[in-house]
Amino acid sequence: MTTIKKAQEEVADYDKKYGWDDDGAEYITIHMTEELGEIARRILRHGGYKKERFDEKELAEEITDLLYLTLKLANKFGIDVEKEWDGDMWCRYEKKVNRLK
Ligand SMILES: [Mg+2]
Repeated sequence: MTTIKKAQEEVADYDKKYGWDDDGAEYITIHMTEELGEIARRILRHGGYKKERFDEKELAEEITDLLYLTLKLANKFGIDVEKEWDGDMWCRYEKKVNRLK
């Protein structure tokens, strides 16, 4: 099973192999918005707003593209996403929910 840490290492290895580890944070972020747009298009198809064929596999691929870039951006800043996930992330989320009660 791939852990978040392993996935983050795979992204770093892949980027280094193809010389993409020098990509600037601003370009990674812009690329993330492109991928989010691709996700949005699939969701608009799913809801019938876009009269195009919805393909769940395509949605899965676009979500994964965004995950790859999220991990790539984290690598750029030396952020250990698994540590953040296992750390106080759920505590922060619980606080958000509790603020709404
Ligand atoms: Mg894509």
